[in-house]
Amino acid sequence: MSMVTETFGSMVFSDAVMRERLPKDTYKQLQRTIKGGHRLNSDVANVVANALKDWAIENGATHFTHWFQPMTGITAEKHDSFISPTSDGKVIMEFSGKELIRGEPDASSFPSGGLRATFEARGYTAWDATSYAFIKEGVLCIPTVFCSYGGEALDQKTALLRSMEAINKQALRVLKLFGNGDVTSVKTTVGPEQEYFLVDESLYDKRKDLIYTGRTLFGFRPPKGQELDDHYFGAIKPRVLAFMKDLNEELWKLGVLAKTEHNEVAPAQHELAPIFTISNIAVDHNQLTMEIMRKVAKRHGMACLLHEKPFAGVNGSGKHNNWSISTDGGANLLEPGDTPYENAQILLFLCAVIKAVDDYQDLLRISVASAGNDHRLGANEAPPAIVSMFLGTDLSEILDAIEAGVQYDSKEKELMKIGVHTLPKFPRDSTDRNRTSPFAFTGNKFEFRMPGSASSIACANTVLNTSVAESLRQFADELEGAADFQTALHDLIRRTIREHKRIIFNGDGYDESWVAEAERRGLMNLRTTPDALSHLLDGKNVELFERHKVFSRTELEARYEVFTESYCKVVNIEAMTMLDMVHKDVLPAMSRQSRALADACLQKAAVLGEGECYEKTVLARLNSAMSRAYDAARKLEGDLLSGKEQEGSTKLSYYYRDVIIPDMNALRAPVDEMEMIADAEVWPYPSYGDLLFGVR
Ligand code: ADP
Ligand code: MG
Repeated sequence: MSMVTETFGSMVFSDAVMRERLPKDTYKQLQRTIKGGHRLNSDVANVVANALKDWAIENGATHFTHWFQPMTGITAEKHDSFISPTSDGKVIMEFSGKELIRGEPDASSFPSGGLRATFEARGYTAWDATSYAFIKEGVLCIPTVFCSYGGEALDQKTALLRSMEAINKQALRVLKLFGNGDVTSVKTTVGPEQEYFLVDESLYDKRKDLIYTGRTLFGFRPPKGQELDDHYFGAIKPRVLAFMKDLNEELWKLGVLAKTEHNEVAPAQHELAPIFTISNIAVDHNQLTMEIMRKVAKRHGMACLLHEKPFAGVNGSGKHNNWSISTDGGANLLEPGDTPYENAQILLFLCAVIKAVDDYQDLLRISVASAGNDHRLGANEAPPAIVSMFLGTDLSEILDAIEAGVQYDSKEKELMKIGVHTLPKFPRDSTDRNRTSPFAFTGNKFEFRMPGSASSIACANTVLNTSVAESLRQFADELEGAADFQTALHDLIRRTIREHKRIIFNGDGYDESWVAEAERRGLMNLRTTPDALSHLLDGKNVELFERHKVFSRTELEARYEVFTESYCKVVNIEAMTMLDMVHKDVLPAMSRQSRALADACLQKAAVLGEGECYEKTVLARLNSAMSRAYDAARKLEGDLLSGKEQEGSTKLSYYYRDVIIPDMNALRAPVDEMEMIADAEVWPYPSYGDLLFGVR
């Protein structure tokens, strides 16, 4: 344990390090920037940069980079050396305040959705002083935002920071109404639970689909899958355990609070949960976690699969986004308290979330939309594509009672009246056990379960923060003008429950009947990424983001373009990979297998005489599947070519969804059938069984 406390954050330029290494005055001014968002003047920046450089060099760094998250969802870095030449032909290690605060990466290699064309070709990165700098593999990484010269966000982080500012502003207004005027800032907190698969690297290397697309595009189901549920919380295998130990140590050095780890439902699937922290830091840490996971897995001879659906027929991977709001004093605004007054405030915050999720179902769905996640959401798996909320019986009963204007009869026979009686504490058990809900209240936080395992959680949190900020804005407007606060509060809460209770669903989200029920309630069911994206630019959504200064219309249009293009590109790569596999590996291998079967038939016939034989039957089946696979591949090829005639990315995305993906499914079926018939020795790829049960 002492080891951990010593190494924890050892590679982070943390508050403690800053306090120790910066002159008092500089430290104070930097704190003003971090806490209050004040501009850092260049003298201070120079002092900070110098201290940062000395610290980094002492800890083995030779280069620095502005670390940022372009709209692709991965992180980007371009390494620059600290070395500067001197006039006498030597070098010194230098790093200026200017280099700390601002960088100019070549923006043309990152997607901009047309933003760069409209403004300047270049982009710049700017230090996000609220997220600590850290050293990763000898490189000092400075967390930054990435913008165009016109100031348009070209990354995931800028909007997230703006959304945190929006919810801060509106939440403070509401807190003031409850007499909490002393709170100076409100921050959203996030703890993302990351799911992933581990497979043996030597097997991974034999699968083009995993290498090019991150998921298997073919694969016949293994005799044993996850039906016995014997993997979940089962004993962790020694190799995986060694990986997890190493991973934790790496993450701790970087200040990532990795806490729990366990096996997940599917074989070879695991989960890592960090201790929650402030949203923007949590987003940075999650990006780091994914990167380090891949690296450490490789060191252990394994490949870490972060794709949402690496294996058909086996549970996919998500990223449960635990979210709450807390004050600068660390009080969780969703944690039921001890006084009635406190609880009226919590109830209002809960209502703000309920209203936000109902009003902006589409944005929540969009925030997690990707070609990969389409295989989970709406595909009969956790969670469905329909956004709904699970509140648990306790809270639901309380809300029902408030709405009906009757007394809430809890187990203790307590009377429930807002602002008068105490809200009961919600026992965790009663709130956390609906695994099918996409958005669940879990006692003192919400768990948004739709995000996919591979993507950044920046977008989801930006939508959450902004939509809740909007509810709070409306609430504050109404309550600030009220003659009688208590009455107005009561009316507001009742009305909010009545207007938005359709979003609350405590039943089984996987059940067929829910789809019909949700439709009856008027909830949206956006099954695919193109369906979801078609709502991004709806008037109410543009208005929301513009009002809270999170995205301008131009920025949203750019994002629409980037997301749509990215969907098309992903599907296109998958389709091309399938064709490559079928033509280069599968059909040639099956041709050899056919020949062997045919030879066997002939030889048998020579001995036994003509007649039916096992090999002949198999050969006929194989031959039929080969023909069907070949035809399906030809159709896919032709349709991919016709795709070039589609004008614009929107049309193309629908074309990929409606034509290419069905073609891909049609191709997969006969190939999987062949894998079932074929000799294991002849099949060109490791099987699902090998992959899923290969790590011991
Ligand atoms: P479990 O679901 O395993 O019983 P917890 O409910 O404690 O465990 O936590 C699940 C995840 O939720 C963890 O990543 C944790 O850090 C996160 N979490 C807990 N409290 C909060 C909060 N107030 N804000 C954001 N995330 C939180
Ligand atoms: Mg969870």
